[in-house]
Amino acid sequence: MLNFELYNPTNLVFGKGQIEKLSVLVPYGSKILLAYGGGSIFKNGIYEQVKNALTGFEIVEFGGIEPNPHFETLMKAVEIIREQKIDFILAVGGGSVIDGVKFISGAVQFDGDPIDILQKRLLIKDLTKVIPFGTVLTLPATGSEMNSGAVVTIESTQEKLAFGGSALFPQFSICDPTVIASLPVRQLQNGVVDAYTHVLEQYLTYPHEGYLQDRIAESILNTLIQVGPSVVKNPTDYALASNFMWSCTMALNGLIQKGVPSDWATHMIGHELTALYGIDHARTLAIIGPNLYRVMFETKKGKLAQYGKRIFNLTGNEDEIANEAINKTVEFFHTMGMQTNLSECTEDYSKTADFIVNRFEERGWKAMGEKQNITLDKVKSIVEMSY
Ligand code: NAP
Ligand code: FE
Repeated sequence: MLNFELYNPTNLVFGKGQIEKLSVLVPYGSKILLAYGGGSIFKNGIYEQVKNALTGFEIVEFGGIEPNPHFETLMKAVEIIREQKIDFILAVGGGSVIDGVKFISGAVQFDGDPIDILQKRLLIKDLTKVIPFGTVLTLPATGSEMNSGAVVTIESTQEKLAFGGSALFPQFSICDPTVIASLPVRQLQNGVVDAYTHVLEQYLTYPHEGYLQDRIAESILNTLIQVGPSVVKNPTDYALASNFMWSCTMALNGLIQKGVPSDWATHMIGHELTALYGIDHARTLAIIGPNLYRVMFETKKGKLAQYGKRIFNLTGNEDEIANEAINKTVEFFHTMGMQTNLSECTEDYSKTADFIVNRFEERGWKAMGEKQNITLDKVKSIVEMSY
């Protein structure tokens, strides 16, 4: 197993009715920026619950953080915080609002042009230079509520870039599974597939000697397979909703990543598809992931075979099981309403592989994956195979 440090300071407050606890979770006397997205919180009652819980606090509202949040939008919030001396941010939303708030938190006191946080992938590690924040999660998927990473899009250059750092963990996150009742089917499907892929990015890697991490990862995959298709049909079922929500958090709160290598190339390539065509994050992963496993078969087949045996009870020789495990993954993604070819999502796909490879070259990204052997020719094959 690789050496590791486990640091996760987020106070995760889970369950029905927990939004009420905001009054004690937000530091007493704070002036709060209440950040939210396109307005779903006004329709499903979450805004009201949050406002009631924060009676007595001074609140400035900042709405309009879009899915795949834009740098340009977030910089407006940075200005408001600087002007109005706000000392706490509350993110109420899904991964986009939470990621957006992580950027805002790091940008307010950033020494230099905050675009560098994205373009130079600067780590935000100094706790004295961030605005503290908490979250009320409204969409289980990303794990952003309990990790210190985020992804922000620069609209002017159509780039979707990841960043993070140990100072960007939420101070607390409230996860009330009843909030998912108002989620559209598409977002429920996305949540399951995003979380499932997060696990695969940390599990289908080699060399990997985290036997315990494997068993935890497999439990999350099994639980997502168990609850995913039903929670989409019945999001008010509390047992389904709570297990779905907790699985998504556990998939990317750092635990299964400790002591093992992780891949993340599916996400890196997927971000390009969102930046280029606006395809939902999870849907880009369903397109890229299986093809990445096909192209990187020799590197990953041992782990794919373990996955096939333990998750899908497959039998046969290693190659057969590993191949069939990829097919079973695609089948599961289809069950979850995903399309797994780029041509099903955009007509304009024919130059995508060259475009992405050029972009990665410009950024100096020569290789990715846990062994840094997903070179640009491999990226080209993966994207072309996904057409
Ligand atoms: P999202 O982009 O936050 O939200 C998608 C849509 O769902 C929005 O239109 C939102 O509407 C709506 N919505 C949210 N909660 C709702 C509710 N309870 N009822 C009804 N509608 C609701 O989706 P997401 O999948 O959570 O986040 C995706 C982003 O996270 C991407 O940018 C992705 O790259 C990033 N990501 C981050 C991490 C990480 O570790 N930080 C990991 C993976 C992905 P409103 O805007 O109106 O609220
Ligand atoms: Fe993701």
